[in-house]
Amino acid sequence: ERIMEIRRKNCNPMTMKITYYKKPVFLHQGYMQWLWDFDGNRYLDLFAGVATVSVGHCHPKVAAALQRQLNKLWHTTNIYVNPTLHEYSEKLASHLPDPLKVVYLTNSGSEANDLAMLMARLHTGNFDLLTLRGSYHGGTQQTMGLTSNSSYKYPIATSSGCTQTMCPDVFRGPWGGSHCRDSPVQTTRQCGCAQGHCMANDQYIGQLKETFATSVPSRIAGFFGEPIQGMGGAVQYPKNYLKEAYQLVRERGGVCIADEVQTGFGRTGSHFWGFQGHDVLPDMVTMAKGIGDGFPMGAVVTTPEIAASFAKAFHFNTFGGGPLACAVASSVLDTIKEDGTQQNSHNVGTYLMTELAKLRDTYEIIGDVRGKGLQIGVEMASRDPLSPEAMSEIFEDIKDMGVLIGKGGVYGQAFRIQPPMCITKEDVKFFLAVFKKAIQRYMD
Ligand code: PMP
Repeated sequence: ERIMEIRRKNCNPMTMKITYYKKPVFLHQGYMQWLWDFDGNRYLDLFAGVATVSVGHCHPKVAAALQRQLNKLWHTTNIYVNPTLHEYSEKLASHLPDPLKVVYLTNSGSEANDLAMLMARLHTGNFDLLTLRGSYHGGTQQTMGLTSNSSYKYPIATSSGCTQTMCPDVFRGPWGGSHCRDSPVQTTRQCGCAQGHCMANDQYIGQLKETFATSVPSRIAGFFGEPIQGMGGAVQYPKNYLKEAYQLVRERGGVCIADEVQTGFGRTGSHFWGFQGHDVLPDMVTMAKGIGDGFPMGAVVTTPEIAASFAKAFHFNTFGGGPLACAVASSVLDTIKEDGTQQNSHNVGTYLMTELAKLRDTYEIIGDVRGKGLQIGVEMASRDPLSPEAMSEIFEDIKDMGVLIGKGGVYGQAFRIQPPMCITKEDVKFFLAVFKKAIQRYMD
C-alpha cells in the first residue's frame, strides 16, 4: 500500500483528487455490487465508480460478450463498414422514441456533449448556449464552459475578463444546486438560507421566464439540461420546469439536449431515460457512463434533420464505436432487459428513498432526501450545509464500515447513492444500519 501511495503521489497529477484521503482504499477486484481491496476487505459499492457501473462490476454476461469480441476484432474505425457499430446503433436507437434515430458514438460523456454543442450550432446557425445552475456537462474545455458547478472549474483570466473557464456565450438559468433544499416538490424542512429557494412551484417558472426575458438572447443554439442533476447532488427541478424551458428555448430557435450521462439506462427506475419523467422530447440525447457498464463509451442520438445539417461537416472519431465498446454496450442493453435492471432500480430505489426519508425525519442534520430510482441525494444540512470536515468524517466512517458512497453538490454537502443497479433490499438494510451508526457517532 505504501508503494502504491508513493507511485500515486509521484506519477499522477495533483488534480486527480482521491475521495478517501484520510485512509485511501486500494481496490483491485469487483463483482456485481461488491468491491475488494488488497487486504481482502469487501465493500458494498453504492457509487459505481462515479455512477458508471450499471448492471454490475464484471457482470458475467457482459464479460463474456467482451471476451468473445476480444478474440475477433479490437479495432476498426468508422471509415469502414463496421458491423458491431451498425448493429449496436440500431439496437440503441430502438430504445429511443421517434425521431431520435441517428447515432454518433464517442468515448465519453464530455465528448458526446462537445459534439452535441457543435451539432446544435451547425443546425441552428446560432452560437449561444444555455445551461442550468449546478449543472455538470464535462471536463473538456468546451464542456467545462457549459458546466455551471463551480467546483469543477479552474481560475483562468481570459482576455474578455472572464475569470473562469466558462464560455462567455453560455447563459445559466436560475435553477439548481442550492445547499439546503432544491425542490419545493421534494423537500420537507423550511430552509433558512437567503438564496431565493423555497418558493412555490409557479414562482420558479416565473423566475425562469423572467431570466429568458431579461438575459437570454433572442436567437440561441441550444439548451443542455440533465433530467436530474448528478454532480449537483441529485437535484430535481420543480414540476414542468424542463418542459417550460424547452418551449422557451424553441421559441428562440434553439434545440434541446437531454444530458443522460447519469440518468440514462434505467437509472431513474420509472423510465429508461430521465427525460421521459419530464414529459418532454429532446432534439438530442447525450449519454455515457452506464452505457458500457464501466467500459469507456459515449453517444449522441439525434434526429435525421439535425444529422443532415451536421453532414455538411466532416466528422471522425478514431475510437468512437469501436468493436469492443459496441460488443459490451450491446450486451449491457440485453442484460438490462434480461436482469430486470430498470425494475430493480425502481423497486430498490423506492425502498431506499422511503427509509432515508424516515432518517431525515429523525435526524436534524439530514436536510433533504431526493432523487429517483437509484439516483439518490442526501443533503446534509439543517440550516447551513455540513462543513467539508464533518462530511468527510461521516463519509470515511461509512467506508470503514464497508460501504462506498459518493459526494456532490455545489458545496460538497450531499451524499450521493448511485450504485450498480443490481443491489438488493438486503444491501440497502446493511447500508442504512451503517449510515445510522455513522451519523450517531458524528453527533455523539
Ligand atoms: N454529463 C454529466 C451529467 C456527467 O455527470 C458527466 C460525468 N460526471 C459528464 C457529462 C462527462 O462525462 P465523462 O466524464 O465521461 O466525460
